[in-house]
Amino acid sequence: MILLKPRVESDELKIWRLLNNRMTLPDKDKKRFIYMEKGYQGEVLFDQLTANLQPDFFIINDLCLEFNNSVFQIDTTIIAQDRVFPFEIKNYEGDFYYDDNTKGFFTLSKDEIKNPLDQLKRSKSLLSPLLKKHGFYLPLEGYVTFVNPEFTLYQAPLNEPIVLPTQLNKFMKKLNQTPSNLNERHRKLAELLISMHHTDSPYKRLPPYEYHQVVKGLTCARCNSFIPSVNGKYFTCLCGYKEDVESAIIRSVKELQLLFPDLKITTSLVYDWCMVIHSKKVIREVLKKNFEVKGERHLRYYI
Ligand SMILES: [Zn+2]
Repeated sequence: MILLKPRVESDELKIWRLLNNRMTLPDKDKKRFIYMEKGYQGEVLFDQLTANLQPDFFIINDLCLEFNNSVFQIDTTIIAQDRVFPFEIKNYEGDFYYDDNTKGFFTLSKDEIKNPLDQLKRSKSLLSPLLKKHGFYLPLEGYVTFVNPEFTLYQAPLNEPIVLPTQLNKFMKKLNQTPSNLNERHRKLAELLISMHHTDSPYKRLPPYEYHQVVKGLTCARCNSFIPSVNGKYFTCLCGYKEDVESAIIRSVKELQLLFPDLKITTSLVYDWCMVIHSKKVIREVLKKNFEVKGERHLRYYI
């Protein structure tokens, strides 16, 4: 397979992680964060499977497209010679059932969850005319793919495009046997899809937060715990992770920039943010060396 658009952690997910570590999220936000984190892990799991596919497939991950003022997302899109496969990936864990009368998905405690088949149908119903509009008439063959090995779906419908965790390997083998010989036209299609991808502002779906509300301090790059003190050029977290002060300061500045894009990065701000780097001079040197200087003297800031 040829991976044309690799999956990256979204800024939104990165901000959620930072906020989760630095403030107490209200329950509904915490749930949203966990759902998002889990979803991402599921997509990464699926990527490990598609990584082994035959060379003549184009793979585009995380597409966010718009048609007729409707925005839709496709977790993974595979372009083969005679069709396009959009995948809706779900990392649900635990026992669920499908109710044939209501065509709904439920937990065993009868809470209805968003129907992933409807999500897939919606994406297909928007992707199909979008492709046609640009002169591409390849049929779509979409699947809802459940990737978590601990997922069970009782009464799973037989006639719906669902791939269950126990079927994943067989499904991939079959998919891999799809004859495929891609040409320039397929590449044009892939490039078109990538060019239409929307990158949405990550900030609008986040809970409100301000600088004074989040816990300051330098955190470990591996386990996220707060570093109690730093002496010298290196520090070691209780988890055993060792980092040099320079890279930790750069990392902290990037966190600040992501969390507070409107704040100017100054030596004092970074000093306040890290809390355990006791030398402003050290911070200033790292900023000077790794970021672009703007402004004069005491109004100096970095981008
Ligand atoms: Zn650690």
